[in-house]
Order: sequence, then structure tokens, then C-alpha cells
Amino acid sequence: MSEKNKKGHCIALFSGGLDSALAVLLMLRQDIEVTAITFMTHFGCDLGDRSSCGSNPYPAAEKYGFNVKLMHLGQKFVDIIEKPKYGYGKNMNPCTDCRILMLAEAKNLMEMVNADFIITGEVMGQRPMSQVKHKLNLVENETGLKGKLLRPLSAKLLAPTDAELNGMIDREKLEGISGRGRYRQIELAKEFGLDDYPNPASGCLLTDANYSIRLRDLLKHSERLTFDDLNLLRIGRHFRLDSNTKVIVGRDEKENNQLEAYKKPHYGHVEALGIGSPVSLVIGDCSDENLKKAAMITARFTSARKEAEVKVTLVSKDSQPAIIVPPAKDEDLQYIQIK
Ligand code: SF4
Repeated sequence: MSEKNKKGHCIALFSGGLDSALAVLLMLRQDIEVTAITFMTHFGCDLGDRSSCGSNPYPAAEKYGFNVKLMHLGQKFVDIIEKPKYGYGKNMNPCTDCRILMLAEAKNLMEMVNADFIITGEVMGQRPMSQVKHKLNLVENETGLKGKLLRPLSAKLLAPTDAELNGMIDREKLEGISGRGRYRQIELAKEFGLDDYPNPASGCLLTDANYSIRLRDLLKHSERLTFDDLNLLRIGRHFRLDSNTKVIVGRDEKENNQLEAYKKPHYGHVEALGIGSPVSLVIGDCSDENLKKAAMITARFTSARKEAEVKVTLVSKDSQPAIIVPPAKDEDLQYIQIK
């Protein structure tokens, strides 16, 4: 059926995961045109990162013939992390605010292209924070999408939407799935010939306990989150020297290269040249005292960590002076490491 003969047009929140793919397929089966949006953020929901909420959306889009638009949430997403109206989940994941933001963006697109409604792959009761019934209703009310938000996988357990009431969608052909089991989804995937789908992801980087500890520390000590600060949270070991100053120490060559790439003229750079050494960046107050502390921390992670003294170069200083320092002791580092 050509697009102009379709019965309607929906916007799909599409992560590339099984549930959102099935939601799309249930629409295509009812001759509904689908325009899918895959959202990206700085927290792992990008196509090259398997820790994300979803995965590459293109294979399914190509196979089944629907359009995908990529949309980066950028600063809007950072804003909700700084101040989520509905709070955080177990870690620093503001899932309810995140869903509201994604749906608000989808609503804009729906209005722009004159689509009829929005679908998501949400399954009632599947995720504790964002997919319990009152949360599903809450995001609907917050986004002004009452009647326009269809969850095809759990539709039979929810109030009928406008598209079901006006006959555009046959409610009987929708699903009534709830809970964490995937039995029905796997059955549907077989029915649709969908055989290449990722395992369910546990969520974006904000659901990671260690990343969240670092993010909390950053929020406590910064007025505004910058993209660079957020990206640096993924790299290296982090040590807080004072409320303004942090030292980041690369854990391997890849991280050393990443730290080099993120280096700014106002960051301190400390490294024990000529021996196996991490790259360390000092972000904040690069006083002599703090650079010396950074040198001691760096020395601890060099190949000479068992020596009484290690020569460490203050690379970021104009004349690149070297100082001789004792490696920091693990028992001292445990108090300042942001784990
Ligand atoms: S885990 Fe939560 S905060 Fe992270 S992208 Fe998914 S819904 Fe949004």
C-alpha cells in the first residue's frame, strides 16, 4: 500500500530494541504510516554505544520500510538531569522527565508533519520507574497527549486512544502485554520474521551506579554542567582535591589518548615521561600545591609506583619542569577517589 493510501500516520519513539520495533510493526500491519524518531543524548544513547537504551535503528527500518529520524536531545536533556521535576530513579536516571521530554519532541514532530498520533514500545510494569500505570498516565497528561499516545504492546490494558475510538486502529489487533517477561514479544518477533534484535538494555549511562557517583559529585561542585565535563566522567580514575579541583588519571592507552583530546589550555597536564605513565589532567585550581598532589597521584599509577620517588613532568607548564615526588599511598587515595 502506498503512503498516500495509508489509513493514518504515527510518530514512533524508536530505540531499535525489540519492544519499539514490535510497536512499529503492529502499526505497519494495520496500514499506518510510521515515522520513527531515535533519540540520542550524551549518556550512551548513541548508535556506537551498546550501553544505551536502544541500538542501531536502521536495520529494522530498512527491512520493514519506515523512516527513521535521529534527534539529539543535547542541552534539553542536560537541563532535566540538573533539575528533574519527577526526581531520579535508582541512580541518576531521570526516566520520567526523560520520557516527557522525548514525547514533547515527538509531539512537535507530530504537529509539524500532521501525523495522527504517537506510539511507544512501552510495556506496562516492565520498568519500575517509568512504566507503571500511573507514570504512563502522568507523562500523557504532562505532554498534553491525552488520547494521542498509543502503546500498542499494552494497549488492551489501557484506556482506548482516539485512533482506536475513531476506527483508524483496530484495538483487537493490539496487544495486552504487561510485566518483565518477554514470552509474547518473542512470539510476535517470530510472527513478524524479526530475528535480529538486541538483548534488553538496562538503560543509559545514568543508570550506572559508578557513573552516577561521579555525576553527583560534579553537580555538587559545578554551577552548570558542560558537555565536556559530562563526557570526562566516563574516562579514567577521578580524584577530588578540593571543591574546585579534580584530577583525572587515564587507566590505559585509550583513555590517555582521550584525555589528551579533551585537554584545554587551562587544564593542568601531569605525566611521568619516559616510563609507563598515565596522562593526568588537573581541572580547576592548578596551583603548585595541586599540581604536586596530582603528580603524586600520577606516580602511584606509573610503572615506578613501588619506588620511593618518581620524576613527574608538569607538561602543561611553559618550561615543562619535572618534580620528584613520592607516589601517593592507596590508603590516602581512597579518601579522595570519586568512585
Ligand atoms: S534510562 Fe531513563 S533516563 Fe536514560 S535514556 Fe532511558 S528513559 Fe531516559
